[in-house]
Amino acid sequence: MRIMVTCPVCYNEKIKEGLIPKTGKYSSDLVQEVIAEIDDNFFASFHCDSGHLSIGYLSKHRFDILLESGILAFLAGFHSESVLSIAGSLERLYELFIFAALNKKGIQLEKIDKAWKYLKKQSERQLGAFCMYYLSETGIQYTPDTKIIEFRNKVIHQGYIPKSDEVKNFASKVVDTIFDVIIVLRNDFKTELKNIYFYNQERANKALEEMRKLDKSLNRVPVLTVFTPSIVGMDENDKIFKRRTFAILLEEMKEIKVRYGVT
Ligand SMILES: [Zn+2]
Repeated sequence: MRIMVTCPVCYNEKIKEGLIPKTGKYSSDLVQEVIAEIDDNFFASFHCDSGHLSIGYLSKHRFDILLESGILAFLAGFHSESVLSIAGSLERLYELFIFAALNKKGIQLEKIDKAWKYLKKQSERQLGAFCMYYLSETGIQYTPDTKIIEFRNKVIHQGYIPKSDEVKNFASKVVDTIFDVIIVLRNDFKTELKNIYFYNQERANKALEEMRKLDKSLNRVPVLTVFTPSIVGMDENDKIFKRRTFAILLEEMKEIKVRYGVT
């Protein structure tokens, strides 16, 4: 996955030179953006055109990143890859819900993380845990759409090559489910989502410390947090947030795909 990042060294130099104001708006032409590739810890190390090395940290939920990746793959015509990422997004949203539900019961995220290791490699167990927690938290039975699972398995495990209409149909159902879950999370788990956000940041800091232990030269490299809007509006305030369909997400992604280094 790629993101667009701004070099913090060049940015600060331009502030010192008075070319960019310390506060307020400025022309985007004044800052040079480069394409960087994020890793599994959501870090992207990159060189700007002036040769400065920096590290960007993408502050986002994993399900959001995977969904964006799946939509971008669809727009580029990579249908199998799109199914893989969109299905992965839903599974990671199940995980987020389970973590939020357990955290609401007063269980520390670190403890949940340790317990999660026993479910980590088995999506069936994860789905089972999600169904039970969804029922316990909402009083509503969650019935997994077997057609979604069958289609995902056919593409991922049997190498089935889907056509765009089939992927659209699959993705529409998944996106509808994603919004069902997001709406519950946004309404009932605000505190837990904040806790998870800070926990993920802490985990990223630890991963960065490990990277720096292995490569001492990284100690002097500046780190910036990259905020790009969530395609599903996960971080939007309540007045702006609205349910969207896959068709709407596709149109919205066409407008912002340049932010992911896609032209
Ligand atoms: Zn630079």
